[in-house]
Amino acid sequence: MYKNFATKLLFFALLLLSTLCSLKAQTAFRIVSKPIIFDAERRQLTLDYLEKRHGLKQSEPTIHPLMVVLHWTDIMSLEKTFDVFNRSTLPGARKEIASASALNVSSQYVIDRDGTVYQLLPDTVMARHVIGLNYCAIGVENIGSDQYPLTEAQLLANEQLIRYLKLKYPIEYVIGHYEYNLFRETDLWKESDSSYRTEKTDPGRDFMKRIREKIKDLNIKGVPDHK
Ligand SMILES: [Zn+2]
Repeated sequence: MYKNFATKLLFFALLLLSTLCSLKAQTAFRIVSKPIIFDAERRQLTLDYLEKRHGLKQSEPTIHPLMVVLHWTDIMSLEKTFDVFNRSTLPGARKEIASASALNVSSQYVIDRDGTVYQLLPDTVMARHVIGLNYCAIGVENIGSDQYPLTEAQLLANEQLIRYLKLKYPIEYVIGHYEYNLFRETDLWKESDSSYRTEKTDPGRDFMKRIREKIKDLNIKGVPDHK
């Protein structure tokens, strides 16, 4: 009888442990709020960008997310990246994109090397991170570079963030920044100057291959199937 009781006790202990473990797995993903400045100047520059670059005259600087664009920062710390994105206007050094707009670059999310996810702007407020597509794209920057490829913790955090965003919005595409030029010939592309382009390598082909493997059950596209 005691043996039976001990077996039952062990069974319930294991059940409790597995429940606790699955609860922990479900709650492990969290987003840390770390808002950048979104003052009257940034708001107006964002509205101007939507109108002049994307041809969208709007009363609010908002987007309807259809796409997630993954990046790496080429800046090796979260705090330095935050400082770069925090100001409303571009610093003078970014001449190659300053003629298109004075609006500073940013992204809705930044993921640190340890996988911590920081949210800088609401999902539906436009950030300047990808030519032609900002009006429909949520930007996810990752602290890293060609020399310092993204970490396993970042891979997991990107996967969790994409799954979270896919539940909230009709996300059709997840692309690496280096792939954005593939959309030039599609209906999604909205940029008034066809010669405005930059060549990108972020966040690396290997990372995109790996993230696509992780999220393949979501059936999210990587290349355009629009016109
Ligand atoms: Zn990028």
